[in-house]
Amino acid sequence: MSTKDNPSNSNGKFLNPTPILDDLEKGPWPSFLTGFKKLAERTKKTMIRGVLDQLEYSYKTKMGYWKGGLVSVVGYGAGIITRYSLIQDKIPEAKEFHTMRLQPPPGLHYNTKMLRELCDIWEKHGSGIVCMHGQTGDLMLQGVPEQNVQECFDELNRKGWDLGGAGASVRTGASCVGPARCDDSCYDTLKVHYEVLKHFTGLVHRPEFPYKLKFKFAGCPNDCVNSIMRSDIAFIGTFRDAIKVDNAEVKNWVQKNGMDSLVNNVINRCPTKAITLKGEGIEIEDKDCVRCMHCINVMSKALSIGSDKGLSLLMGGKSHLKVGSMLGSMIVPFVKAETDEDIENLIELLERIIEWWDDNAFDHERLGETIERVSLKEFLKGVELEPDINMVNTPRDNPYFKAEF
Ligand code: SF4
Ligand code: SF4
Repeated sequence: MSTKDNPSNSNGKFLNPTPILDDLEKGPWPSFLTGFKKLAERTKKTMIRGVLDQLEYSYKTKMGYWKGGLVSVVGYGAGIITRYSLIQDKIPEAKEFHTMRLQPPPGLHYNTKMLRELCDIWEKHGSGIVCMHGQTGDLMLQGVPEQNVQECFDELNRKGWDLGGAGASVRTGASCVGPARCDDSCYDTLKVHYEVLKHFTGLVHRPEFPYKLKFKFAGCPNDCVNSIMRSDIAFIGTFRDAIKVDNAEVKNWVQKNGMDSLVNNVINRCPTKAITLKGEGIEIEDKDCVRCMHCINVMSKALSIGSDKGLSLLMGGKSHLKVGSMLGSMIVPFVKAETDEDIENLIELLERIIEWWDDNAFDHERLGETIERVSLKEFLKGVELEPDINMVNTPRDNPYFKAEF
């Protein structure tokens, strides 16, 4: 099917009038509609015009008109989000507008050659609309008719791209830029992301679980990929030894920013009150520090992460559905991720966790929901992990509660 087969309408213009959408462009923020219109005018793709017409109609009637279905490529069962129009008789140009999810490289490191190749292939087969990146972390190619999907995928795949996850599968992973550019990174996010996703790639392409399962990789507790909220299994870098304090730099910082700022913006904002003034410098009580990163972020020259680095595994983060939004809970407080053997051990643990979840979860139940339903105790037994005091959610919350571990 050509996506460019009807250059102009009866008014001699390419785009049809869309007064409601035009109104949306008047606000202070950049509008995606302006981009859609520019792209449609430049490429003369009729499917984009159809989508604009359908959106205008949706706003007018206050109804959405997209429905799902199943579109796939040979050997895969996931990676394409299907959009068929319910009003194809009214607006045939928008009858199909499927999205291909592509896996981004770890840390989102692209080179311009790959991006140019991607755009050329995508403009040839699809709408040309690219979203970087969707909430799942994927690079989204939005708007392709079903009959172009296989050829488009084959060409992309020959250039090194692969489809991401969708449905009840392991989903596309996301990692922060990590050691490539960030001093705070406590492990190689790029390598661990690559190895984990390579290992589970079959499960990304073929949905076989009760529901979705997401991994995200953050190099430190700043969690720039939002892994604690947005992934079932969050790999968050941390360190076991003390924060390194360079008191000469603390003094320079105070000269520049003032003692008030040291007291009010650093010391008083430490969540565990682990920092005290000492002479012209500071002292950090290591056993009280929870590695929240606040002081390091503020005084990045004077304070830095320790040397005994690794990562924590938190599980159960997710958005809405059965029991509402959840943050990940601490399951493995510290594990090294430096050698190939460390990473293999991590992958073995992940396999046990996924197997346990697959055996125990109800339909449409995320990992955290299953743990909550059957209890942390049963989960730990099932995946052969020892209980740890760091797993306690709210210490000293109830003095009558005795853990049964
Ligand atoms: Fe740097 Fe930490 Fe953010 Fe990763 S999560 S980019 S290591 S600050
Ligand atoms: Fe306090 Fe956080 Fe700094 Fe630790 S990292 S000393 S908890 S502000």
